[in-house]
Amino acid sequence: MITVEEAEHIILNEIRNYDCEDVPFDHALGRILAENIVADRDLPPCNRVAMDGIAIRYSAFENGLRTFKIKGVQAAGDAPLDIAAHDECIEIMTGAALPDSVDTVVRYEDVTIDNGIAILNVETIRKGQNIHTKGKDKKSGEVVVAAGTLIDATVISMAASVGVSLLPLKKLPRVVIITTGDELVDTNAQPLSHQIRSSNNYTIEAVLQQYGLDPEMLHIADDIQATKEKIKNCLLQYDVIILCGGISMGKFDYVPQVLEELGVNKLFHRVKQRPGKPFWFGKHSNSVLVFAFPGNPVSAFMCLHRYFIPWLRSCLTPPSPFGDGRGEVFFAVLDQDVTFNPQLQYFMQVKVSISEKGQLVAIPQEGNGSGDYANLIDSNAFMELPLEKSNFKKGEVYRIWPFKQILA
Ligand code: AMP
Ligand code: MG
Repeated sequence: MITVEEAEHIILNEIRNYDCEDVPFDHALGRILAENIVADRDLPPCNRVAMDGIAIRYSAFENGLRTFKIKGVQAAGDAPLDIAAHDECIEIMTGAALPDSVDTVVRYEDVTIDNGIAILNVETIRKGQNIHTKGKDKKSGEVVVAAGTLIDATVISMAASVGVSLLPLKKLPRVVIITTGDELVDTNAQPLSHQIRSSNNYTIEAVLQQYGLDPEMLHIADDIQATKEKIKNCLLQYDVIILCGGISMGKFDYVPQVLEELGVNKLFHRVKQRPGKPFWFGKHSNSVLVFAFPGNPVSAFMCLHRYFIPWLRSCLTPPSPFGDGRGEVFFAVLDQDVTFNPQLQYFMQVKVSISEKGQLVAIPQEGNGSGDYANLIDSNAFMELPLEKSNFKKGEVYRIWPFKQILA
């Protein structure tokens, strides 16, 4: 049996590049940018007026002028209106392009306007005030968003602004989620007392959808022949197979045997961890990766977050100093003493919140083992407690793997 770190290392050795594709920018949320986005012109593209008010020539103010004739009104979107004399001004709105004949904007709050005349109420103004100068934020041709960036609202804003309607994105792997087990029925079925509704497939699908993946789903009965045929097909159609169930010591746990018979090279089976000890991982010669998680819902959920998601992130983004694709590494302060004696790395369910001091604080929510998926509703992270220790003290800090929002 290998350690969590060894398992992680083996998995992160199997980074794949799934190429690129163009996607409409407004459908790219949550994806990863494959190439730099470059400004097609200066930002802002002109000297942009930043306050509603009047635009004047500063030299006129310097020469003692405080009263200006309003030459005209220029709204945002209007072509610039010039003044012809130094005692004139333009009433001008936020977002308008500053005319060349003026250089300073005095906001309405500092001006009294009466009968076409603007009188300044202030004694000090600064040359060039209230103007967002052309190219101040970015120059034409400059990179505004770097390749490898996660697409969020701010990236979509930049794409819209610089006119990139199709974004080059990292392509996502084609994934199939396979459930196994004769006890499973689908959501709309009325299960008999010895049956349960399958949930792992929907849980995994929901997590993957958060990363923009659109996995297929498949169920296989605990039948060796069916298992073999269906997995064989999947090895031809997908980049990644996520299995759950059928990899433990049970008499009907055919998955490891079948995978090996199909030529999937076992890279490890069993990890020193709880939950998720039976985790099986391998690769097929055609480069398909197989993540076979235990069927217990908490185990599958933990393995997905601890192994599959970091692998996916590493495939999509350049390496970060933290070794995790998006550099999302969180630690929290343990809020209670915990004892865990088995020689396993313990992924304890916790409820993490933000303390008044701004620290992440984790309250254990241990639940009733890896079959108790109802407990996940009240937890928001796994806390990774090291294998080497059994006693974990209140106040100690450990890594957490959040799977929900952390609130104050
Ligand atoms: P297994 O790993 O196949 O031995 O399954 C372990 C436990 O997880 C059993 O109690 C299964 O009923 C349960 N289980 C397996 N697959 C699923 C699933 N898709 N949804 C919910 N529970 C499952
Ligand atoms: Mg099973």
